[in-house]
Amino acid sequence: MKPFIYTRPADGAEALSLAARSNQTRFLGGGTNLVDLMRQNVETPAEVLDVTRLRADIEQSASGGLIVGAAVRNTTLAVHPYVRQRFPVLSRALLSGASAQIRNMATVGGNIMQRTRCAYFYDVAGARCNKRNPGGGCDAIGGFTRYHAILGASEHCVATHPSDMCVALAALDATVHIVGPDGERRVPITEFHVLPGDHPEVETVLRPAELITAVEISPSAMAARSEYRKVRDRSSYAFALVSVAGAIEIAQGRIADVRIALGGVAAKPWRAARAEALLRGKEVSQKQFLDAAESELAAARPLEGNRFKIELAKRTIAAVLSDLAGGAA
Ligand SMILES: Cc1cc2nc3c(=O)[nH]c(=O)nc-3n(C[C@H](O)[C@H](O)[C@H](O)COP(=O)(O)OP(=O)(O)OC[C@H]3O[C@@H](n4cnc5c(N)ncnc54)[C@H](O)[C@@H]3O)c2cc1C
Ligand code: SF4
Repeated sequence: MKPFIYTRPADGAEALSLAARSNQTRFLGGGTNLVDLMRQNVETPAEVLDVTRLRADIEQSASGGLIVGAAVRNTTLAVHPYVRQRFPVLSRALLSGASAQIRNMATVGGNIMQRTRCAYFYDVAGARCNKRNPGGGCDAIGGFTRYHAILGASEHCVATHPSDMCVALAALDATVHIVGPDGERRVPITEFHVLPGDHPEVETVLRPAELITAVEISPSAMAARSEYRKVRDRSSYAFALVSVAGAIEIAQGRIADVRIALGGVAAKPWRAARAEALLRGKEVSQKQFLDAAESELAAARPLEGNRFKIELAKRTIAAVLSDLAGGAA
């Protein structure tokens, strides 16, 4: 590993001023992704700024929403009684990720910013990767693509975003709080990660030296009736092949509102807006759920090794909605 300086800023202002000095600095959360990337020379920062002591609080707003500090550990958020009761999709998504030890270390900010698990991205010595080396080529295309994208990919990159938590946050319409050299701003989580297009090296809308300070989750009655289902090769310690975060509100046998987000299928948590629009106002039925899933997956462009994900995603969407509808379907 390349030697680096470790610094623990006393507060957000110091973190920002240190980050603005050089593009060779990285913020350090629990280090469960960044340190691996540094060990493998995918990332070689000159300095890491430990931000784990900055915002580690969970604040409940008067309206029933939550503001979760970026330094809150994944375990702390997953077991928080209010999260379990009012936002079960978030708790379940967090608990489905990684291992207990990793969740104890990983932070909310780091989870949002974690890099793809594409094996070619980590293989600095042996593989071409446009994300690491823009314009250099992509060895995943035509290679092992079981874990790669079926939606929103480009000819330059077919990687997926690995976070489970972000899929739940997308279904909950969460907002990311950011502070940087130009002040504070807020970005909906659904707009925070970007699709690869011609620039797979650009993964989020975060600008240089900007720091994630918190995530805000608005109150929602529907969120109490929410679920996260993750389909993977092993029952623990494995990334999603396909995952579905869902929430539904039913009134007089009809779908008053619904939220669906998918993981394991794209470079960002995929909000299934098309399926949602088709379902709103419709009668609750298994056929409606399958038709909506079909319409969302119509845009899928599978690769040789991940064609199965289309059917898997459709069935998982229908199963989650059916469960949430509580036998009404
Ligand atoms: C074996 C293994 C299995 C895993 N399985 C899963 C899984 O099934 N599901 C899943 O979702 N995840 C999984 N993970 C990934 C894990 O969730 C992430 O590594 C973790 O969430 C990253 O959080 P961290 O705080 O350790 O981030 P770090 O490693 O510290 O940082 C990650 C990135 O975030 C940046 N960063 C950190 N904090 C901030 C901030 N406040 N503002 C701006 N940038 C910031 C860092 O600079 C870095 O680029 C797994 C990881 C491992 C090692
Ligand atoms: S899919 Fe993306 S991350 Fe993976 S090798 Fe290709 S360019 Fe790199």
